[in-house]
Amino acid sequence: DWSARGDIGPGHAFAWPSSPAAEDASADRPAAAATARTAPRPMAPAPINRSPSTPDRPAAPSRATVEPGPSPSAPSLRNNLSAPGTGTNRSALDAASRARTLADLEAALRSFDGCALKATAKNLCFYRGNPQGRLMVIGEAPGREEDLEGRPFVGPAGQLLDRMLAAIDLTEADVHITNVVYWRPPGNRPPTLDEVEACRPFLARQIELVAPRFVMTLGSPAAKAILGTIDGILRVRGKWGEITAGALKVPVMPTLHPAYLLRTPAAKRQAWRDLLAVKLALETGEHGEPR
Ligand code: URA
Repeated sequence: DWSARGDIGPGHAFAWPSSPAAEDASADRPAAAATARTAPRPMAPAPINRSPSTPDRPAAPSRATVEPGPSPSAPSLRNNLSAPGTGTNRSALDAASRARTLADLEAALRSFDGCALKATAKNLCFYRGNPQGRLMVIGEAPGREEDLEGRPFVGPAGQLLDRMLAAIDLTEADVHITNVVYWRPPGNRPPTLDEVEACRPFLARQIELVAPRFVMTLGSPAAKAILGTIDGILRVRGKWGEITAGALKVPVMPTLHPAYLLRTPAAKRQAWRDLLAVKLALETGEHGEPR
């Protein structure tokens, strides 16, 4: 497992990234999609559902927060995933809100034609793991292996994800693993804003039905889509945010994508801190104040 290889852990001495800005741009691209040239529109912050009334404020000190809190000018990391945005597909909202169970939601996704990715993907990738997992892990998009198998995170990144979870004593039986889009983007390019938006009502409903205690997002596109932030992942990782899904409010820990960690092993040190914050939160029920 990844800790057994000695590549993570509190005592591990990795050099810090020499150029945080360059690292952030690279960390925005989790997978082979880093080289994709075919994206019709780059991922951009979800302009949706940011609560304008939420004042920005620094995070309160917390045992689960291992980094200094954000500056008072840092944007709030709170987002209402269930509120319709200007581009929200009405039929997606209706179909998702009618689903009473995950099986209903899967059936609704299978008959939904409002996401362009469905036309080129081989399979729907809904979720793997526990339907009621205490921790919900949300990545970017299915890749080649996931598309073939119809399950999220079953390729190399998924294998590292499993080792990361094992390092904090979690197995697939404890977690619910999914992505911000349910179908593979062609050539592993990043999903577009429209594709993320098409899937969002289903994801919001999925979060409501799973009712996890905590969410952990993987990589920049997932953090942007879930938390509605424009900041790169190296700015937001390690800091608790909060999402609203239906009547639920769920704390969210954004961390680095395992595909990025495979390319940039030195960054495992940062991911390890985030994982420890999640582990502590799961054990104590307490977490840092969302900002
Ligand atoms: N990367 C993701 O973001 N999701 C997957 O399911 C696989 C790889």
